[in-house]
Parts: sequence; structure tokens; C-alpha cells
Amino acid sequence: MAKYIPTIGLEIHAELKTATKMFCASKNDASEIRPNSNVCPVCMAHPGTLPTINKEAVRHVLRVGIALGATLADYTEFDRKNYFYPDLPKGYQLSQYEYPLVRGGSLSGIQITRVHLEEDTASSIHDEKTGATLVDYNRAGVPLMELVTEPVIHSAKDASDFGRELQLLLRTLGVSDADMEKGNMRLEANISLSDTEELGTKVEIKNINSFRAMERAVEYEIKRQTKMLENGEKIIQETRGWDEVKQATFSQRVKEGSADYRYFPDPDLPSLQLSEIREFAHDALRSTISELPWQRRARYVGFGIKLEDAALYVREPGLGSFFEEVVGAFGGDAERIKLASNYIANDLVNLISSNKASSDRRDRSGRDTIYRDEITISAGNFKKIISLLGDKKISSRAGKDILAMCLLNEEDPEDVARKKGLFQDSGDVAGTVSSIIKANPTVVANFKAGKTSALEYLVGQGMKALKGAGDPVALREAIERALK
Ligand SMILES: [Zn+2]
Repeated sequence: MAKYIPTIGLEIHAELKTATKMFCASKNDASEIRPNSNVCPVCMAHPGTLPTINKEAVRHVLRVGIALGATLADYTEFDRKNYFYPDLPKGYQLSQYEYPLVRGGSLSGIQITRVHLEEDTASSIHDEKTGATLVDYNRAGVPLMELVTEPVIHSAKDASDFGRELQLLLRTLGVSDADMEKGNMRLEANISLSDTEELGTKVEIKNINSFRAMERAVEYEIKRQTKMLENGEKIIQETRGWDEVKQATFSQRVKEGSADYRYFPDPDLPSLQLSEIREFAHDALRSTISELPWQRRARYVGFGIKLEDAALYVREPGLGSFFEEVVGAFGGDAERIKLASNYIANDLVNLISSNKASSDRRDRSGRDTIYRDEITISAGNFKKIISLLGDKKISSRAGKDILAMCLLNEEDPEDVARKKGLFQDSGDVAGTVSSIIKANPTVVANFKAGKTSALEYLVGQGMKALKGAGDPVALREAIERALK
């Protein structure tokens, strides 16, 4: 049986964050809920109106290009993409065809073909009651960035990882909210299967509204096409949608070629020679770019923390800024930063997540985001807990308890340890060890006869005697030492 290799290319659209729309002075406000309130004669395509280019949107796309290590265009123009649809008042969409702003570059090792700028369409709302379709033009003309990758991705997981990394980049650069739920960011995937060097017939999946849905849709499509090819059937070049309920793709329409759009340069807009425009000077744009997500992960990993924890701090800005504060509190102490990171990524995250399990902030966006103001312990007090743990003055169990108490009620961790009797007293441990050895002669004999499980029993007895405040590892060592 032939082995088919899947090849995936992505097309990702993101609405840009600008004050006004792409070619007019109407407000660009995705949160506006009153239909058709952010419109003007230009974006409604009244005769005699002329568009003007939004420089802020151009700057956003150029900054994305710089972050991707891509080639920025010097010459660029806008083209008319002609098609007839109610969501497009002009009868064409202003986009870029021959001369995109950005070419090449890569992200997560995946080559980018191009990034260009265009305008969004209006949103159509189907009214169930009347059966009519209503059109809201607030979105018409909002600046939209389209990024196209080379067909070089070979798994569903790599495709969704790329999408997540791009989302993080757009948010870091402040060019887009890139919120999938709000439709700020939209995914399309082209998938083809082949058992030769040549690419197979590609199928495009549209209307994917989450990274998880993309992963599932791509996996489904790989299975569907594999089965067809194995049965000797031909793949049809088409556009398919993703049905979230059936967890399946379905045919939408047979794909039309780009020639159908009759692209041509828009005569109402000037072509741009970017090097002649002060606002687009590359050096000035580069200086607006701060630490990028992958640079930040590398810096965190430099402290010796796990890559997955570093990724968590970059993905979750609230946790990230707390981690930065803790790093600052410890100066350059890598050992302690490593220990602190274990407690942040595990105990702190778990405690806060369970504290807010019932609160309304939990699933506002379906994610378990932790906000900085929910971390109700200061970096200084957190450092004190980590120092007590690092110096073995408290057990890890006690560390967790103190952390929980400090989160509920900011107190000095050392005071808490003292009040609750959580300090590990070495004299206490020694006394406990000798008394449990005295009280359990049979178990001790069993242990000396080679029964290793007997040791667990003695450790358990010791922990009980210390009321859980002991460190099981230290206790085990002390018992072993005493029985040697
Ligand atoms: Zn307008």
C-alpha cells in the first residue's frame, strides 16, 4: 500500500488594530455592536468618493515583515479583486496582487510566501425569523492582513502550532488582537496528499474558527483523502467547510482560479515607493519592535527553566510578568529561579485555577488565562517561600500550604511557618526517628532482613508523628541512617 505524505499550506487573515479603516476615516472598532454606525460615503462606495491609504496599517504589516526576517517591498500598489457579493459595496475588494508589502521570511521554521494588506468585507447576518440576510458594514474596509505560507507543513499539529505562534507574534507587536472567537483572526488550510515528489491536488478548508478545529479538520481531511486515493478515486480541487457538530469537512464549492477575479491596479490610489516615505523608514520601524516571543523563550530557558514553562510564561502575560518580577527578586541566582519556576508553573497555577474555578473570569474566552492581578502574593514574599524551601527549612508540603495561605491573605511567609509550626526542626526529626524505631521492632527487623517496603511504613509513621510537617525525603534519609 502506498504511503501518502500530507502537505499543508496556510492562509491566515488578521484584522489590524488601527484607529480608522483602511481607506477612509470611519472608526475601526470591532467592539461596536450597533450595525452600520461606523460607515461613511467612502466605505459605502458612494459615487465620486476617493480612498486614501492608512499608513498605520502599512506600518503594522511592515513590522510583521521585519519580525519574520522577510524582504520588505520598496514598490507596492493596491489592486482591485473583482467579485460581486452583498458584503462588498464597491463590487471589488482592494487587495494586493503583484506587489505584496512583504515576501519571504519564516516563523517556527516554516517559510512564508507573502504578507499583504487588503480590506475586510461587511458581515452578513442571517435572520432566522424572517429568513432575510442582513448586512452590517461596520467591518467593511477594516484593514486586513493576509499571510500565506509555503506548502511545507506536514502535520495537523505543526499547522496549529504555527497559527498559535503567529497569534502570539501579532499580539506582541500590538498589530492585532488576533482573537479567533471574535473573528479577528481567521484560518484557511490547503491540504494535498502525494506519494511522489510532486504535490497532489489541493483541497482548501475555510471557516476554521479555532486552532483545535484546524487540527481536527486537517486530520479529518488527511484521512478522507488517504481513503479516496487508496480506493483509486480522484481528489477534486474544491473548497470545503468544517462542521463542528459532525466533526467533518463538507464540500462548499469547486475552486475558481485567480483569473476569475480580473485583478488590476486600482486607479484611484497612488502606487507607493516606500523608501521615499518617512513613516516607513526601516530603521525607525525596527526600533519599535521589542523582544519577540521566541527571543523571550530563549532568555527564560537561559535561566535553566523547562522550555514548556518558558512557553507558558510567554503565552500567558500575567504569569510572565510575575515570573519576571521573581527573577528580578532573585538577581542572578539560577538555582533558585529554577526552583521558583517549578512552583509558579505547577503549584501557583493550580492554586489560582482552583480558586477561580467558579468565578466568571475563567471561561470568558474559553481559556484558563491567569491575570496578573489574580496572583495576590508579592514577588518578595514568593521569594521568601522559595528561600525557605531551598534552605530546607520547610517541607515541600509546607511550602504549598504557605503559598495557599499567602494567596488568600498576604502575610509574611516566615510568620505563617512559625504560627502554623511548619518549620522543620532537625531535633524533632531525630526524636521522631528514634521513637518510631523503638515502637516498631518487628518492622525494623523486617527491614534489616531486606524487606524494603518496611521502610515506607516507618516513613509513614514518622510523617504522622510530625503531623505532615516533615520532609519525607529527609525523614527517609534519617531513618536509613539510624538503621545502618
Ligand atoms: Zn468609511
